[in-house]
Amino acid sequence: MKRPIIELSDCIVCHLCVDVCPSAFRLSESGFIEIIDLEIYPEEDVDEAIKNCPTDCIVWEEV
Ligand code: SF4
Repeated sequence: MKRPIIELSDCIVCHLCVDVCPSAFRLSESGFIEIIDLEIYPEEDVDEAIKNCPTDCIVWEEV
């Protein structure tokens, strides 16, 4: 199984990933993007977020 992770030090909180894939990414109350815990992630939508993230700070992690 794999899940996306975000390198928060590179994230500029542009919201693109939340717009592209709101089932997996959300804005936390503290103002950071966080990954929502899911059993299975929507691969195509996450790939789209990875492809379009302006700072390339989202990657898949094998878990
Ligand atoms: S698309 Fe990338 S830079 Fe923008 S909020 Fe998501 S993780 Fe951060």
